[in-house]
This record gives sequence, structure tokens and C-alpha cells, in this order.
Amino acid sequence: MTLVIACPCGQTVRSESEDELVSLATRHAQEVHNQTPTREQILSMAKPED
Ligand SMILES: [Zn+2]
Repeated sequence: MTLVIACPCGQTVRSESEDELVSLATRHAQEVHNQTPTREQILSMAKPED
């Protein structure tokens, strides 16, 4: 199953691995938004891709 996070900035983060999704989303948040979300926050935004 592919998980997708649609960031409010318009970028999409997508991975088949929950761990990788968290890692990619954390890096995006740090680089683009200067924020460090928790794993829980990231996974709460993730949705399975249709
Ligand atoms: Zn973003």
C-alpha cells in the first residue's frame, strides 16, 4: 500500500514504507517549513493512495 501526504505547500510525499514516509516528510518539513513534526503528526496526515 502506498501512503501519501499532501502537504499544504502543494508538495506531495509518497512512500510504500511507513518508516520511509516519516523520514521523507520529516526532511521536507525541516527543509521547507523549518518544523519538526512528530511521527504521530506525520502519520495522522498520511492517507492510502487510491
Ligand atoms: Zn510542505
